[in-house]
Amino acid sequence: METMKKRLNLPLYQKILIGMLLGLLYGWFSILQQWQFFTFNYIQPLGDVFMRLLQLIAVPLVIASLVTGLAQMKDIASLGRLGVRTLILFLMTTFMAVAIGLGIANLVKPGNQLSAKVRAELQETYASAQSSNSAALSRQQALEEQPALQFLTDAIPKNIFGAASDNSNMLQVISFALLLGLALVLVPADQGRPLLRFFESLNAVVLKMVDLIMAAAPIGVAALMASVLSNLAGNAAGAVDLLLALGTYALCVVAGIFCLLFIMNPLVLFVFSKKFKFKDLVFFYKSIFPAQLLAFSTSSSAATLPLTFERVEQHLKVRPRVAGFVLPLGATINMDGTSLYQGIAAVFIAQAFGLDLSLSDQLTILLTSVLASIGSAAVPGAGMIMLVIVLKSVGMDPAGIALIIAPDRLLDMFRTTANVTSDCMVAYIVNSHEKED
Ligand code: ASP
Repeated sequence: METMKKRLNLPLYQKILIGMLLGLLYGWFSILQQWQFFTFNYIQPLGDVFMRLLQLIAVPLVIASLVTGLAQMKDIASLGRLGVRTLILFLMTTFMAVAIGLGIANLVKPGNQLSAKVRAELQETYASAQSSNSAALSRQQALEEQPALQFLTDAIPKNIFGAASDNSNMLQVISFALLLGLALVLVPADQGRPLLRFFESLNAVVLKMVDLIMAAAPIGVAALMASVLSNLAGNAAGAVDLLLALGTYALCVVAGIFCLLFIMNPLVLFVFSKKFKFKDLVFFYKSIFPAQLLAFSTSSSAATLPLTFERVEQHLKVRPRVAGFVLPLGATINMDGTSLYQGIAAVFIAQAFGLDLSLSDQLTILLTSVLASIGSAAVPGAGMIMLVIVLKSVGMDPAGIALIIAPDRLLDMFRTTANVTSDCMVAYIVNSHEKED
């Protein structure tokens, strides 16, 4: 009995991996057996419940961890240093990621391989998908009419309760929490203490909620994988051709993500962390692996945030005040995978339409992809919606998104993994430069 218990006491990443594999196996089997109805009615809700539980704690987690993180800063100067280091690393890695994406897209030229027939089919699919989704349509129209820096205005809420009532306004919640944390550092200690104790207590309770929810992670992940596969198969009857036509493009994005994970991130870690050795790299990836798996399964940096916190603080041993600052901000604005994807997608669409992109066009794509990834919400599919800004910046028709809609769900899984990895990396690097407490 005891050994049985021990055997079941596997580390979290193994349980999530097993859940993923079982979900994939079931999904595959259910397609063969035409069990889509059962999967939709009885399996998908399990995944949705898990996603909701994760989303449910995102806002309290961000507020509590940011406020307590900031309040632990000894002074404004150290807060400033932490902030500047973090933002520089966020921006630098995002720029590097788009540059890698542009390099790959220009080298492989995936868009030149589409036939005119496939192109027309893709646009038709997009038009019908869009007309059946009026929310997405109005969001896209709104984006088309906005200035590129609109996200700065959007970052400031008019009302904190309004902002906190919707997970896609996380940047607004963060700006409120930053201001609150800053004010807490500035008021005399005895005046700030009661509020600070409240947030510390909230933080501890929310982290316990994370533990409880994570116990369901293997089942949640299994259900998510099963329903993703089953939905893909449901939509894919006519889309297999399209997927094949888009194969080179999808491979470019996946190859780019692998470049980020296995070349760029290790290099950045070696260059910017203090005293970083090869064994630290193995330790780094081992520590964050469960968060990467969850990012892959949920396609949402925000939903992964609770586990990202746990891995970074408990396993990478990053100080809570550093993690509390870097991770919520990173999940919301630091998206290396998304920016790489947006760069490749924009060039792919231009190639598919037979448009020549000049060097200045490519630089514009570089810049707007960085901005668009910062503005993308940390939820599934957000990166594709923000692609509108990138396409508009070089005078392309946003309807070109039609070309890339089919494999997007799949690519989202990869890019979210890279997004979360980069957040962990920046937290680790910034932490290595913090003075001993
Ligand atoms: N799903 C991504 C994330 O949450 C954003 C995107 O769509 O690229 O990080």
